[in-house]
Amino acid sequence: MRKEFLSYNPPSIGDGERLEVQETLQTPWVTTGPKTVAFEAALKGYLEAPAVVALNSCTAGLHVALVALGVGPGDEVIVPAMTFCATANVVEHVGARPILVDVCPDTLTISPEAVRAAITPRTKVLLPVHYAGHPVQLDELDELAERHGLAILEDAAHAISTRYKGRLIGSRPNLAAFSFYATKNLTTVEGGCLTGEQSLIDKSRIIGHHGMNRDAWKRFDRSGSWYYEVVLPGFKYNMTDMQSAIGLVQLKRIEAFQKRRREVVARYEAGLKDLAALELPVERPWAESSWHLYVVRLQPGALRIGRNDFIEELKNRNIGTSVHYLPVHMHPFYRDKYGYRPEDNPVAADSYGRMLSLPLHAGLSDEDVDDVIQAVRELVFSNLA
Ligand SMILES: *Cc1c(COP(=O)(O)O)cnc(C)c1O
Repeated sequence: MRKEFLSYNPPSIGDGERLEVQETLQTPWVTTGPKTVAFEAALKGYLEAPAVVALNSCTAGLHVALVALGVGPGDEVIVPAMTFCATANVVEHVGARPILVDVCPDTLTISPEAVRAAITPRTKVLLPVHYAGHPVQLDELDELAERHGLAILEDAAHAISTRYKGRLIGSRPNLAAFSFYATKNLTTVEGGCLTGEQSLIDKSRIIGHHGMNRDAWKRFDRSGSWYYEVVLPGFKYNMTDMQSAIGLVQLKRIEAFQKRRREVVARYEAGLKDLAALELPVERPWAESSWHLYVVRLQPGALRIGRNDFIEELKNRNIGTSVHYLPVHMHPFYRDKYGYRPEDNPVAADSYGRMLSLPLHAGLSDEDVDDVIQAVRELVFSNLA
């Protein structure tokens, strides 16, 4: 058995990042300034985005985006039930109603059929999530958005380097929000960005920077002025140069990170695919996943133990795992406010009960992966129903 505990997704931060942070601390400008300008330019290049604004989280990006799109009381935003709570919380923040819909059984991404059934005259935005790094069915969503005059806002928290039909997530004109939280594929410890067409990003920048109508934060250089005006009551969501310093180094490493993630996934696939008790994650033919998460589901009735015991037993074998996610409609706030029952989104509810995320990050060695595979196999074979 493995001697040291294996975390399911620690960040890959190295000497390069540490050096950049130290150097930035020695400059006269440590918050939003030249490093953030450079990070935004680098992100724009990497994501092939029309325009980018860096912010202090993906949650901030989603909130700003909804404000930029004019979403407010009386409006509805369609959100998948299988996501992190922030995707729905931001809809509450602007006083609108999140309509929580079910996901596809294979990819656990939002079901276009469920979206179609949920559209009402009050619907304003479709807010799909590229769950675990697998892209959503954008063509189907585009068609619905066009027919009903809706905006699309992508929750791309998991989706840096994800491709839909060959095209990078983040390269479209609609707004997409990325996360650089500590557990994500690229991290600035905390942070995020919005991508989209220039006019939407310009507006989002103002909303995320106190509502200041010019780049008041450009006070760091000679071209900056002391003068600014507030054109709306914006938010304090700027990214600091300390974070951008980390992000610039991470962006240089992202391709190597992604290559390693794909190798780990291939090794899991080879080591686990013969187990009938497990349902492994899939990639549809038109999809290139960023493989943010490796979510396996226990096949109903195949084992004598349930998901919670499975997680405990893996922990006893020094393998860390997690669950992504308790569906949003099952959280007390949403359940009680809107009267949701688990079976309102049956795929999300059922999958939640039998899912777990195995360790997946760029720092895993082949031996680490083999330890996970061995522990999972032992557990399966000793608990067959
Ligand atoms: C992590 C995450 C977020 C929030 O990202 P932050 O940068 O922590 O605000 C939003 N949506 C999903 C799906 C996430 O996984």
